[in-house]
Amino acid sequence: MSPEQFRKEGKKIIDWIADYYEQIEDYPVLSQVKPGDILNSLPDAAPQQGESIDDMIKDLDEKIMPGITHWQSPNFFAYFNANTSFPSILGDLVSSGLGVQGMLWATSPAATEVETRVLDWLADMMDMPEQFRSTSSGGGVIQDTASTAALTAIIAARERVTGFKTNEDGLDKKLVAYVSSQTHSSVEKGIKIAGIGRANLRLIDVDENCSMRTDLLEQQIKEDRANGLIPFFVCGTIGTTSSTAIDPLPEIGRISKQEKCWFHIDAASLGTAMLCPEFRHLADGVELADSYSFNPHKWMFTNFDCNVFWVANRSELINTFSILPEYLRNKATESGEVFDYRDWHIQLGRRFRALKLWFVIRHYGVEGLQHLIHEHVRLAKAFENRVNDSEDFEVVVPTTMNLVCFRHKSDDAFNLKLMNTINEAGKIFFTHTKINGQVVLRMNIGQTHSEEKHVNNAWKIIQETAKTLE
Ligand code: PLP
Repeated sequence: MSPEQFRKEGKKIIDWIADYYEQIEDYPVLSQVKPGDILNSLPDAAPQQGESIDDMIKDLDEKIMPGITHWQSPNFFAYFNANTSFPSILGDLVSSGLGVQGMLWATSPAATEVETRVLDWLADMMDMPEQFRSTSSGGGVIQDTASTAALTAIIAARERVTGFKTNEDGLDKKLVAYVSSQTHSSVEKGIKIAGIGRANLRLIDVDENCSMRTDLLEQQIKEDRANGLIPFFVCGTIGTTSSTAIDPLPEIGRISKQEKCWFHIDAASLGTAMLCPEFRHLADGVELADSYSFNPHKWMFTNFDCNVFWVANRSELINTFSILPEYLRNKATESGEVFDYRDWHIQLGRRFRALKLWFVIRHYGVEGLQHLIHEHVRLAKAFENRVNDSEDFEVVVPTTMNLVCFRHKSDDAFNLKLMNTINEAGKIFFTHTKINGQVVLRMNIGQTHSEEKHVNNAWKIIQETAKTLE
């Protein structure tokens, strides 16, 4: 394809995406296909001769779209946000167009330096403690996901506690990690991958707000030490996946410092809220953390994948992940004046992901981002009020941010039937969880284009459908 053809075909694709967003509300939010439908609609073998972009667009419309669940629909209230925005899509397109590898400063200096600047901006925008900035002892780096960020933190914690020896000698000590029973499963996965073993992960019980009980944390750490084990890692969460519970971070931080454990904070979903000064108290205790991560690819209008991961002391990270094969040796690295981000995470190669974040922040500005977050929280509160005012439904845990956990006052089977009936009809899509053994419906409000009318309509559908099923 020549640049001229690319220009022509590229415009068709941009038009196709813009048309999609104009028509997005006409699609059933939850894909209605059955397993194998899409697979069976595709040819068994790859084409021998090249095909036209027009043919591909036709197949996108006819074969692919039926199998899409529309995460970007304003009527999508399921799971958690994974929102995007036009500036983010454009930033990502530029990154694809440039196609650079940003593994070392030397392999494309702008890829490193834009990332450094944007993550320092973000630290300022969220009023994070000084140590997380590149101009201080720490700094931020973009990872693909919160799962990878947690694994990175676990491995760095493992190295720190073993004097940076495990990478060379293997793990011969009994290290123990602590999370709450509500912590995201990605941390358990990280513990398994890092060779700590599931048997050495303690799931600390939670209180009535689903927040970690620090009395039990302290007690468990003491017990483990008495048994000759080595506590090394504690994870606290701002916004658990089930119910947006907040762990008592100042107390977890105090215990972690006292016990010389690495303290990681997972704010995957809610981290974006720290853009707004009135929500920053949720992150109190971050000053005690060794690492902190959140996902702009959830609530900050930046398309997947984009996790931001900050450490208070970058040398611990670099000591853990640095490796320099001969073919990557270069003057800039040897000068020590530059960051080589491949030393800040697991993989070597890296895309220019900072561009989409740079586009998003510059397009909306801090105030524009704050406005959207306020609006989502306001809509969630309004939805909660309606549930409280209704005779048939109840709120299960008070709404702290943009997730409303509620249920119909009848039994679990009715709630599941209600949810499935609504989701199959395709007008809106929402999901459920279990809290204290009971089915709870989750209304997560945070899609880039969700407005009051969409939330009102969702409540109307839920109420009307419940009446037809009673
Ligand atoms: N942590 C929390 C609190 C989450 O809610 C999620 C995803 O929902 C994750 C971690 C995992 O995120 P990722 O898909 O970026 O690994």
